[in-house]
Amino acid sequence: MTVRITLAQAMGTCFGVQDAIDMALDPAFFGALTVVGQLVHNPQTMERLRANGVRVIERDQVDTITTEAVMITAHGASDATKADLRQRGFTVYDATCPLVIRLHKLARFLEREGWFPVIIGEDNHVEVRGVVGNLKEAIVIHDLEDLHRLAGKRRIGIVTQTTNRLELVQALVQAIKAYPGVEEVRFIDTICQPVKERQQAIQTLLSEDIDLGIVIGGLNSANTRKLAELIGDRGIEVHHIERVDDLHAAWFTGKQHVGITAGTSTPQDVIQEVYTRVRGLVGA
Ligand code: SF4
Repeated sequence: MTVRITLAQAMGTCFGVQDAIDMALDPAFFGALTVVGQLVHNPQTMERLRANGVRVIERDQVDTITTEAVMITAHGASDATKADLRQRGFTVYDATCPLVIRLHKLARFLEREGWFPVIIGEDNHVEVRGVVGNLKEAIVIHDLEDLHRLAGKRRIGIVTQTTNRLELVQALVQAIKAYPGVEEVRFIDTICQPVKERQQAIQTLLSEDIDLGIVIGGLNSANTRKLAELIGDRGIEVHHIERVDDLHAAWFTGKQHVGITAGTSTPQDVIQEVYTRVRGLVGA
């Protein structure tokens, strides 16, 4: 029987990540740019950047910067982080995605309006750290186990990490509303449109009865992991891979319909390589 392969209608690199990569790869920066934090959560793109003379460091390594030009990633950073870099004499190029800037603005808006800011997201994610760093006080909620952090808070304003899953966020918003002592809640949906489109495309794949999902993207990419969860939560076999050589022929034995998708920092050529290899493996 012929095995069907369906590519998700929306997948791969989003405009925010692409713009940041284009900025970093500008020939004017060759060998003279340091990126603070992973520019994108994708190993192939990071290799390409390094090959183009871009140095990538972690936030706690700023003492080792030797270039004048420093770039903030698409995930953004707090104003204090940017000011610190400028104070150290660097020229800061800001590749923060406009939809992350929107998240920062809305979190500050809620704070200004007297809501206690709550960010639904991953405590240690660079995007969340940046948003928290721009607020006087904030609480990060990742799951139900974090709700105790709300103790004593009455008027809660909620935003979410841009890459979150909407249904999980909505469930947490309901749980926050029901938390003892919470009197009023305002939720602003800050999940970004490209992420929503990729999640919606998964729902379409699921409605077409795939029995195997291949999700391509960095293992440290939050949005790629969430795409894999969306498939796995339906009880469908799913494999999160970073590169074509991660594919195993055994996964395809007995399968009838393979769905392929990719996170927002996965380059098109990596997706194409995987698609071609899967076609070869299933004899399509
Ligand atoms: S995932 Fe969304 S918020 Fe993040 S860079 Fe892409 S478009 Fe921007």
